[in-house]
Amino acid sequence: MRNDGLQPDQTAQLAETFGLLADPTRLSIVVVCMEREIPAGDIADELGLSASLVSHHLRLLRAARMLRGERRGKQVFYSMADACVRDVLKIMIDHLFIHEHGGSDEPHEGDD
Ligand SMILES: [Zn+2]
Repeated sequence: MRNDGLQPDQTAQLAETFGLLADPTRLSIVVVCMEREIPAGDIADELGLSASLVSHHLRLLRAARMLRGERRGKQVFYSMADACVRDVLKIMIDHLFIHEHGGSDEPHEGDD
């Protein structure tokens, strides 16, 4: 696909995908899955969330192809669907917390 623009329905789909990440709880689930495969129950434990809430979010994240689930025995292990999604997140995390962007540290006068 050429990157010279998106159809309106593609823009809507992209917005929907980013919108999934706009929920802090859901985003925290994605971040937990960034570097490893982890069973749903462990995600819930780690984040202090109920199993039913986690499975609700996992369902949405799988449907959006951000995470994938793989059944092993009685557990389903979750991980990033592919490197693209992980890279997008890594880039944004670096952008926010590591990069020194010119101008980003300028004081906002009048904020106080
Ligand atoms: Zn940056």
